[in-house]
Amino acid sequence: MSANQEMAVRYKNNFLKEVEQQVEMGEWVKMCMQCGVCSGSCPTNFHPGWEHPPQEIFMMIRAGKREEVLTSPSMWMCTSCYNCIVRCPRKLPITHIMHGLAEYAYELGLAPKVQPTRNLSKLFWSNATKTGRINELTFSLGMYFKDAEGKINIGQGIKKGLEMQKVALGLLKAKRLNPFEIFGGHKCKDQKGIHAMLAKAYALESKRKGRHVG
Ligand code: SF4
Ligand code: SF4
Repeated sequence: MSANQEMAVRYKNNFLKEVEQQVEMGEWVKMCMQCGVCSGSCPTNFHPGWEHPPQEIFMMIRAGKREEVLTSPSMWMCTSCYNCIVRCPRKLPITHIMHGLAEYAYELGLAPKVQPTRNLSKLFWSNATKTGRINELTFSLGMYFKDAEGKINIGQGIKKGLEMQKVALGLLKAKRLNPFEIFGGHKCKDQKGIHAMLAKAYALESKRKGRHVG
């Protein structure tokens, strides 16, 4: 049984409870009074990919629209500007809930596959956790040479590299870019320790949420 099926069975017909127990700060969703201030304050509201603003997402959670919420690209559109949190009269941690929903959808394998933020987050996480420090050169190259589905695209990479050459030269001049980073670059001293710490944190979090640890 997949993680998604397991959770669907465990929380049958109670998506709000599932969000409260599985999503970061999900216990706040029931406090939303549907005033719409967050949606009206959100700078990405005008974007065509912004299917459902936060107020709508919270209403859908309470209405049990599990599939629609977890497969939506909306949570991935959040730029963490915190406008909504500052203005919410009920003080909901909206930004954190949006990211928590995105993370949960990803864990269950329901997050949209073609979503630039999802691909950026994946690349950033694997880059930063490999050595404990972000390698800006390989991270940028990864972004240039991968398409919206996360697949290697040489033509796109060359095109983007050429577009950004002025910026790269400026960074080189200012000593903000080191081409030798391509060979590995700077790392944390205790990489094994970082990996052990992350594995432990993941195991503890999975246990707390009653999720299967892969
Ligand atoms: S501003 Fe707060 S209370 Fe109003 S709709 Fe948004 S989350 Fe709900
Ligand atoms: S933090 Fe995210 S959801 Fe909130 S206003 Fe900014 S972009 Fe919109």
